[in-house]
Amino acid sequence: MSRAFNFSAGPATLPEPVLQQAQAELLDWHGVGASIVELSHRGPEFMQVAAEAEADLRTLMAIPDDYAMLFLQGGATAQQALIALNFAAPGQTVDYLVTGHWGKTALKQVQPYVAANVAANGEPGGFRDIPARESWKLSQDAAYLHYTANETIHGVEFGEIPDVGDVPLIADFSSSIASEPLDVSKFGVIYAGAQKNLGPVGVSVVIVRRELLERAGQPRAEIFDYRAHVKGESMLNTPPTWNWYLAGLVFKWMLAEGGVAEFAQRNARKSALLYQVIDNSGGYYRNEVAAAVRSRMNVPFFLHDEALDKPFLAEAQAAGLISLKGHRALGGMRASIYNAMPEEGVQALAAFMRDFQQRHG
Ligand SMILES: *Cc1c(COP(=O)(O)O)cnc(C)c1O
Repeated sequence: MSRAFNFSAGPATLPEPVLQQAQAELLDWHGVGASIVELSHRGPEFMQVAAEAEADLRTLMAIPDDYAMLFLQGGATAQQALIALNFAAPGQTVDYLVTGHWGKTALKQVQPYVAANVAANGEPGGFRDIPARESWKLSQDAAYLHYTANETIHGVEFGEIPDVGDVPLIADFSSSIASEPLDVSKFGVIYAGAQKNLGPVGVSVVIVRRELLERAGQPRAEIFDYRAHVKGESMLNTPPTWNWYLAGLVFKWMLAEGGVAEFAQRNARKSALLYQVIDNSGGYYRNEVAAAVRSRMNVPFFLHDEALDKPFLAEAQAAGLISLKGHRALGGMRASIYNAMPEEGVQALAAFMRDFQQRHG
């Protein structure tokens, strides 16, 4: 068996030791005689798995005690709708920074419930930059400000946490959570689908400042109510146990590897290497994102001649480098290089890109 270096944007590559452990435990978890996915979510075995996952992610991200943590179904997209239901009254104004595809999605999810103000929009510039802070048109009394920390498709990442005073910050961290140290206390809510940087698809992590849960929000069913989920410890209904378990294994792996400070360094080296190959290619490859906001997690790039796309992908695949095709919205290529992508994988891609240029120059 040989595993390729998989640059998929999500679901994305998982750490090999995690997959091996899951495989070893699949039929018989810790001598119980059953798989963890065959056991009740309320039994002592899964309760232990769940509690350890939460404690490990708290440690990894240094999450303060006045923040609750949820492991929910519905993906990041469902959380985008739930934040309006939970944190803004009907028709109340909320502010959105739209810096790529996922910012637009987030906006679309809340428009039925609230008065969404687009405080900044990178679309006129093709989402190649983040509009300057001075140009943001913030509302007088927004219930919150939402932004996308890393735009997975457009490859645009905030280098700093936006400073918007006392307005609670709600941030989509789906593709950059736990990729570097983060001051969680600056946020009202951080949410992320797991399938980029935390584990398999099917579970989302929501980190919410408890005080915000006291907001009235909108009339909503219990299952859409974060307060009820916090009270029910993410077990209001059957949680996605397999996904939660696998994410828990990823957290343990991240801790063993040295935590987010270590991954921050690896991620900086990995992305710098790819941008260097692109920028030094004399226009053979190009990335169009402003240098200051280039993503450390997703590197979209184009070949100078579209006719080379097919051979590039085919030869990359033959070299054990897979899932490099760009998102259909942008075309070209995209290398997603989350925590689980080893540095050797990025080095192999960089070498392949230089070699391809020489052979097809
Ligand atoms: C993938 C992604 C989403 C959508 O996640 P789903 O789990 O498919 O709903 C939202 N935001 C960002 C930044 C993403 O990368």
